[in-house]
Amino acid sequence: MTQTNWNSEAHPARLEERLDDDVVRCHLSPRNCRIRPGQHGFCRVRANRDGRLVTLNYGRSVHATEETIETEAVFHYAPGARILSMGNVGCMLNCDYCHNWKTSQARYVEDKDVHRYTPQEVVDIALRHGIGVISWTYNDPVVWHEFVVETAALAKAAGLVNLYKSAFFITGEAIEELLPVIDIFSVSIKSLDPKYYRRITKGWLEPVLEGTEQVFRAGKHVEVSTLMVTDLSDDEKTARDMAAFVGERLSPDVPTHFVRFHPDYRMTNTVRTPVDRLERARAAALGMGLRHVYLGNVYDTASTDTRCAPCGQLQVTRYGLNADLVGLDAGARCTGCGSPSGLTLLPDARPRERVRELPAGEDLRIAEFAWHGDVRALHVQLRNASAAPARVYTRRYGDQGDHAQDGWEAVDLAPHESFRRIAAKSTPGERGVRVAVPPQCDSTLHQVFDRAHFPTVEAADGTLNGDVSPLPLFRPGTRP
Ligand code: SF4
Repeated sequence: MTQTNWNSEAHPARLEERLDDDVVRCHLSPRNCRIRPGQHGFCRVRANRDGRLVTLNYGRSVHATEETIETEAVFHYAPGARILSMGNVGCMLNCDYCHNWKTSQARYVEDKDVHRYTPQEVVDIALRHGIGVISWTYNDPVVWHEFVVETAALAKAAGLVNLYKSAFFITGEAIEELLPVIDIFSVSIKSLDPKYYRRITKGWLEPVLEGTEQVFRAGKHVEVSTLMVTDLSDDEKTARDMAAFVGERLSPDVPTHFVRFHPDYRMTNTVRTPVDRLERARAAALGMGLRHVYLGNVYDTASTDTRCAPCGQLQVTRYGLNADLVGLDAGARCTGCGSPSGLTLLPDARPRERVRELPAGEDLRIAEFAWHGDVRALHVQLRNASAAPARVYTRRYGDQGDHAQDGWEAVDLAPHESFRRIAAKSTPGERGVRVAVPPQCDSTLHQVFDRAHFPTVEAADGTLNGDVSPLPLFRPGTRP
């Protein structure tokens, strides 16, 4: 059967207003695009077909990927939990530094990067792999509204938790449709400067703040983050403005994350955010009364750990995208003073089986990837080409500490299944990752640059700027 282009099938869209002359208005994002027959909106994934609003990306996703909840700037809900990340194509913004521009900017999307899923298939993948949380993430879930709402409802009915990681340039009426099905909102607020929003993101600020307040007032678990872009938004004023918003319009208890930037898309002629600026931003926000302020995309700092606000007891330690509970009891109370931590804990749905040694006598091919430069996470894509179930293995190597004792993690693949999962550096001494697959399976490795980056190229294709920028390189004026 011939595969059609990713955007060739239209699906009825919600939040439609029908105007005269077959024109429609979209009420999904505050842009409220007015779309003539045959045209599309700013996001290029919602269009007018014969006078009706349709979505062109229903069920179109990047590869479903197992990650950890820390990938989504969520630190106070199920630390260390495995999540199933689902990202689609298109976006209602066009940020100059987007690190998912190959999938968020629909004009650059290639069919090879797009996979097809039904709502039931997404839920089945999570259940089969013992994953308790589905994360709607990467480019931005706002422009995947119909698929997210339908699938999240199915997931919820199956006992799964839904996480929504978004820049949240979305209307209040669309949020009302999310509230019954989404449990966790991780909102990326790019800046508190309206001019910055217009210039850098092509959106505007106030709807983002109003939407964040709306989900917080609805009682949802909310965490907020800000990308601290070198020389643009990595100053203490940005941190103080964020602290004022969180403290006054949300609560000082809302976890707030200042996230390190890497050069990407239209902003490759710059450097990563200096870590000392991030630490100063964190100190400024704590000084204004926020109780939990974290840094993101940084290693070897205590600024990613969770401590008890009343007594200072260490409760969760983190390294990169990995977390260990060290000072919480089963009821999420501090083991130091007994105070409620405010964190929500979930029992790990079904931990993966581990083996000390690979099974003797099995014909397994081993691939290896060494951490280098700023590349400290990897997507491992695993494919089972056979009509029978298969077992593959991954492990970290080079560390003399606790994780060296973990051995090989087993991943069971269904017949003909393709599955992606993250491996992230978990201790300073760890040197890399190994993958072992039987003859009927194969694997490809994809370097991850920072949290919630979905890599579209293989590790073998290399990096840019001394390992701080991912390929592909954006060339202004290019059109596929
Ligand atoms: S989602 Fe936003 S950008 Fe896309 S068509 Fe609707 S209003 Fe326009």
